[in-house]
Amino acid sequence: MIRREIGDDQICVLTFDRPESGANIFDAATLEELNEHLDFVEHEASLRGLIIASAKKSIFVAGADLKTLLQQAQSGDMREFIAKGQRIFGRLANLKIPTVAAIHGASAGGGYEVALACDYRIATDDPATRIGLPETTLGLIPAWGGCTRLPRLIGAEKAADVILKGKLYSAQEALKLGLLDEIAPRDQLIHRPKERLRVGKRKMEGGSPGTPASLAPPRQHGNPAPERACQIINKTLSISPDESSRMELEAIVELGKTESTQNLIRNFFLAEKYKKGSSRTPAERVIHAAVIGAGVMGSGIAQWLSSRGVTVILRDIAREQIDRGLANIEKIYADAVKRGLMTEEKAKEGRARICGSTAPMELRDVRFVIEAASEKLSVKKEVFRELAMEAGPKTIIATNTSALPVSELADVTVSPEHVIGLHFFNPVSRMKLVEVVIAKETSDGTRERSLAFVRQIGKLPVIVRDRPGFLVNRVLFPYLLDAAELFEAGLDAEKIDNALVKWGMPMGPLRLIDEIGVDIAIDIGNTLEKAYGRRDHVSAVLLWLRDGQMLGRKSGAGFYKYEGKVQAPNDSLTQWRRALHGELEGAEGPNIPPDRHRDPRLRLNEEALAHRLVFLMVNEAARCVEEKVVDSPEDADYGMILGTGFAPFRGGPLRFAEHFGLSKIVDELERLAQSEEKFSPCEILRKHARESTKFYEN
Ligand code: NAD
Repeated sequence: MIRREIGDDQICVLTFDRPESGANIFDAATLEELNEHLDFVEHEASLRGLIIASAKKSIFVAGADLKTLLQQAQSGDMREFIAKGQRIFGRLANLKIPTVAAIHGASAGGGYEVALACDYRIATDDPATRIGLPETTLGLIPAWGGCTRLPRLIGAEKAADVILKGKLYSAQEALKLGLLDEIAPRDQLIHRPKERLRVGKRKMEGGSPGTPASLAPPRQHGNPAPERACQIINKTLSISPDESSRMELEAIVELGKTESTQNLIRNFFLAEKYKKGSSRTPAERVIHAAVIGAGVMGSGIAQWLSSRGVTVILRDIAREQIDRGLANIEKIYADAVKRGLMTEEKAKEGRARICGSTAPMELRDVRFVIEAASEKLSVKKEVFRELAMEAGPKTIIATNTSALPVSELADVTVSPEHVIGLHFFNPVSRMKLVEVVIAKETSDGTRERSLAFVRQIGKLPVIVRDRPGFLVNRVLFPYLLDAAELFEAGLDAEKIDNALVKWGMPMGPLRLIDEIGVDIAIDIGNTLEKAYGRRDHVSAVLLWLRDGQMLGRKSGAGFYKYEGKVQAPNDSLTQWRRALHGELEGAEGPNIPPDRHRDPRLRLNEEALAHRLVFLMVNEAARCVEEKVVDSPEDADYGMILGTGFAPFRGGPLRFAEHFGLSKIVDELERLAQSEEKFSPCEILRKHARESTKFYEN
């Protein structure tokens, strides 16, 4: 794993080069090898310095071996592995000779902590060089000295920022933050460190007894790692490095035992799996594409494609729509530049790849056409008929429909085998998921090319069958619509939303309806209700909002009012509800009809409220597995995490259900179903509960 070379200058270079792999990682064997090299280095009195480097093209050291960590977390024996890493990195830090990390490529987590144990850190200014400590995003903390050495290197405050956010930085950013001492051109990556070695040993600021720092941890429901890291960072400068290491060790061992940390590590592996896919045949790169419809989604998709190097013809029915679409694209690019995600130059190049047009034109060179016109079957059929004539024989025609049957659109074309659904999510620039909808006649070739295209543009595909709502909307809507019903019954918007945020959702369901748009939510709800019945019933409150032009954030009001920074509940809505329940007559005291006192929904505590709503999603996700809308429970879970932000530390609806106890959930669903039939548990859930079987093996 590690090669040792010593030159005439008596400088020892340890080069990490894991055999038959593109990446270096720290597993137990690599740690042991490093330990043996350190035995040698400590005893070789003639050595004048040590350089740590990597032979890989784009990775220095990617971090600790997460597979081992996950296994150890599950079996409860992480302590030995972490303690061993601490001991070995400690030896490196205490060498008498000066040491330099010569970084090219990703240096993340343990891969940066080994650099922190050196006296100097020099890196190449290459886009592949990414530096940081992402452990907290995986429910862990940097425990091989990250929480101890980084605050000593750059101060507690900056270290907290790096560790709690868990971001990876470019070499330039890392230099500014103090994570690096110097940037060098790639061809000087060994030479420069040698110059540094001549400067000699550097003393790291020791801890001195004093007042601990008092940085506040970020509020993050469900993932306790940032808070644990923050406790150590606050304390580390007032205790000895050894004591600090012990805190690191205790914290990571405890975190590893939690379900949330194990789920976050699993999500990491899932992301890797969906990013790579399983196809072995290299796919052709798509260079030209067309997008039909320049609305919210069409312009968002065109912007994304153009930023990924694809030239785009953007078509709509009139100049006005094109101009509005182009203005939206302009805004997305400007935001990306402002947020530091892109240089002005890259944004300019991207914008230049889009050509807006109202005229039908030859689409022969275009490999992908993505239709994102208005959500009406008649409109889309017309578009598909026309496209079928303009497109070349190899062109794939994809629809971004949210709920219309893709097979029906395919039927109006001459080659339905080239038709597929590519369902992007709003906002396209932030949502990574694309549902790849396989219609009746979609060919395997079309499926493979589409999966490769989605990966080419840096999105993550999940394959779904052509059933109403596909996966994500189908699972999400019973939950959203029940939340609206609970509001209508008398629960306050904030009470409902807070309960779900506390449970771990990025935002509450009513706020999410406001984001989606009340009108769009009604349309999707209606389609789903037609297919699945009562559980997708659109309640009166939504219709009332729509009739009052309160469509959510985009119109300034929905369940909440969107004026200025504070978003208060919409009081005209509460008035409407009081009128509905006959509470407005008789000014004295609440005049609630007697039967409302018996509505058990009004007495739900926070936890019961969250469970009621989440169990609806569990039930629907299970149905999607049962009906083979998705290929695996993983697809259902990962799709929901990516497509809706479903509490990642819960591992998705099915993983959560399994942890919570499938039979407990089935019992509760059956209890609820006695008064509300829509809760009736699906067959696969009942079966698992009855036979004590599971969705997942481990
Ligand atoms: P939108 O109303 O903002 O845009 C639709 C655009 O299509 C309009 O500019 C309209 O002029 C244009 N159009 C209509 N007929 C056309 C034709 N014959 N040729 C070319 N252009 C035509 O709608 P949107 O929100 O962007 O949604 C577009 C599609 O994406 C819909 O199918 C919708 O269901 C789906 N979708 C929407 C969202 C969302 O959150 N808005 C999310 C995922 C998918």
